Amino acid sequence: MPTAYRNLIDGEMIETARTMDVVNPANESVIGTVPACGKEELDRAVAAARRAFKTWSKTPIEDRRAAIKAISAIIKENADELHRLLTAEQGKPHGQAMNEIIGASAMVGAQATLDLDDEINEDSDTRLSRTRRVPVGVVGGIVPWNFPVMMAMQKIAPAMLSGCTIVLKPSPFTPLTTLRLAELIKDAAPAGVINVITGEDSLGPMITEHPDIDKITFTGSTATGKKIMEGASRDLKRITLELGGNDASIVLPDADVEKVAEQLFWSSFANAGQICVAAKRIYIHEDIYDDLSKAIAEYAKSVKVGDGSQQGTGVGPIQNRKQYERVLELIQDAKDQGYQFLVGGDHDPSVPGYYVPITILDNPPEDARIVAEEQFGPVMPLMKFSSDDEVIERANNSDYGLAGAVWTKDTERGVRIAEQLETGTVWVNEYLHFSPFTPFGGHKQSGFGAEYGKEGLLEFTYPQVITVRKNANV
Ligand code: NAD
Repeated sequence: MPTAYRNLIDGEMIETARTMDVVNPANESVIGTVPACGKEELDRAVAAARRAFKTWSKTPIEDRRAAIKAISAIIKENADELHRLLTAEQGKPHGQAMNEIIGASAMVGAQATLDLDDEINEDSDTRLSRTRRVPVGVVGGIVPWNFPVMMAMQKIAPAMLSGCTIVLKPSPFTPLTTLRLAELIKDAAPAGVINVITGEDSLGPMITEHPDIDKITFTGSTATGKKIMEGASRDLKRITLELGGNDASIVLPDADVEKVAEQLFWSSFANAGQICVAAKRIYIHEDIYDDLSKAIAEYAKSVKVGDGSQQGTGVGPIQNRKQYERVLELIQDAKDQGYQFLVGGDHDPSVPGYYVPITILDNPPEDARIVAEEQFGPVMPLMKFSSDDEVIERANNSDYGLAGAVWTKDTERGVRIAEQLETGTVWVNEYLHFSPFTPFGGHKQSGFGAEYGKEGLLEFTYPQVITVRKNANV
């Protein structure tokens, strides 16, 4: 019998008559059921969050910090149970699941230390003017399926610290670990501060358009982000959107082939390529293209694709059937067009589970679908370039602008290239490094606003300026 998971509304774990199944992508078996909430449950959750906001927004920040730190500790204490559940619903190998759980605990703990101090604008003989930060109110958080726990917690923690309350909706594909976590942390904050409700995609627009929600913080696809912006515009809700990407990695000719091959591989294939900032196009200088593409392909052959709960698995299944079919379609398109494969491409449909073989393409053209679109799966194109100007132009030739990387011994040249990339983050000689103290957000169609760091925290607040005239005639 699949386990029946419950939602968190107003400090209580609740059930609904209608439920949805959650499937393990490694074998397609149903492993849990979750409530299928509609307008009624959403209204209850929003009303609870509104009631809690009255006192939580006035609770001293030190007490809010303490609650967030308690949540960080609970996540860590329960990491063993949580990471197994995360692998079962998301597919990622146990080691990567544990990194997500421990990473979420550390990120939450670090976010609790951020400051929201007033800023003095003017302190002169005539006036004292300061900007204070007041919480926006009730937040609607909407989360995708690739890093369900990290994405949920990176919305809950800053909302709580700023004095907001939250109604969070996990992805219908990966709600289980978040719901188990909600049960574990439900007493760490007063009832109504954190509410977690599950439902189909149709619950998303209800949240976006709910008149008593003041802000939406969303992570997911660019297509959905546009709908959210439209829905939120009706009553001018504040929005933060973390969207898709088609990130370019640029490898300069001085890079050491043996040293970078493995790093480049994982920059693309961690979490089976289902990372918004995964390297989705790798441009290699023509002087080292043959050696490096061979080294990456050799390394790829040593990595096992399989069930994430089995020891030795490096790349798990794709998280859901829809995405699995999309990735297979991109591989089929590359075959139909006659592009060359260095590794992979052949897939066995008789095996249950959403497994896609590690696939690496050899220098497909710039207008190939696998280059121009966000693949979000274990398929990577390697491409040749000959000059810095050329590769910068090719890297920037995208509606996305999330992140990118440059690999070189000459860090000055690397930074010169990085500064010309039209993305919110560029790493030089590393990849996928996030810090709770560093803002993260996309340019162009990859996002709106930022998460993490002071900049991310301020998105949960309004500035309020209080100006006092000194020596006034009153
Ligand atoms: P998605 O947009 O399909 O779904 C994300 C969430 O939105 C889910 O909870 C879904 O139920 C909900 N939703 C669906 N339709 C909605 C609507 N009309 N209104 C409101 N909510 C709605 O995205 P996904 O397939 O779950 O995630 C993959 C995408 O997320 C990729 O494009 C990836 O690049 C992106 N992503 C971005 C970041 C980032 O930080 N920039 C991080 C992770 C993933």
